Amino acid sequence: MKKKEKENILYKIENLIFRYDLGKEKVEAIRNLTFDIPAHSFITLSGPSGSGKSTLLNLLGLIEPIQRGRILFLGKNLDHLKESEKNEIRKHKIGFIFQQFHLIPVLTVEENVAYFLIRQGINRREVRERVKEAIEAVGLWDHRKKKPSQLSGGQKQRVAIARAIAKKPEVIIGDEPTASLDQKTGHEIIEILVKMVMSYKTSIILTTHDPMVQTYSQQNFHLQDGQLILG
Ligand code: ADP
Repeated sequence: MKKKEKENILYKIENLIFRYDLGKEKVEAIRNLTFDIPAHSFITLSGPSGSGKSTLLNLLGLIEPIQRGRILFLGKNLDHLKESEKNEIRKHKIGFIFQQFHLIPVLTVEENVAYFLIRQGINRREVRERVKEAIEAVGLWDHRKKKPSQLSGGQKQRVAIARAIAKKPEVIIGDEPTASLDQKTGHEIIEILVKMVMSYKTSIILTTHDPMVQTYSQQNFHLQDGQLILG
């Protein structure tokens, strides 16, 4: 890949195929996908239930292994990486947000955001700075001493975004992050994510059923039966 291409293309996906092996039966979840995901953008993946969105997200997040075809992440062929190198990418370059937030209930907002940074071995002073910046960016500084059970669904998702952004990742990946929120709160969450793309130069890739979310994205890729349908 040329240098400019490396900077502008976050993921290059080529002839990607993924099958779940259920003994006798095999489910072809991804069927020969080829497309580029640009860097520094808000990208959505849409499509009916079972169309392969979550599987693709798991492949992009290095959670599932590449079976056939290839994915280049910032120019690096994921298939050629050792498990330790993949762990490093997951730890430092990819932030995750989930439908059910996945916060640690016994920790406060600021401890939730700090937890993985401390585990990454980042020094305390830098952790403090990043935690403050991330919690302020999602508008929760006044709530930093609260536990997740004292927060609304929208506030919990803000904490999850703060935790993802505090890593300073290249990309934030989210599987239906607004699905358990009401419309208004969902809008607010998406607006925060749009702000992150602009101020942190990160990329965001979300799966969604919600046309509202798609109206915010710079590009939507629609999947059906594990294939890309051009819109
Ligand atoms: P979506 O996120 O669009 O709903 P998925 O990626 O979850 O789609 O699923 C794509 C296809 O793969 C579906 O047919 C689904 O039933 C199947 N599938 C997903 N996860 C598994 C699994 N762990 N084992 C077997 N089949 C699976």
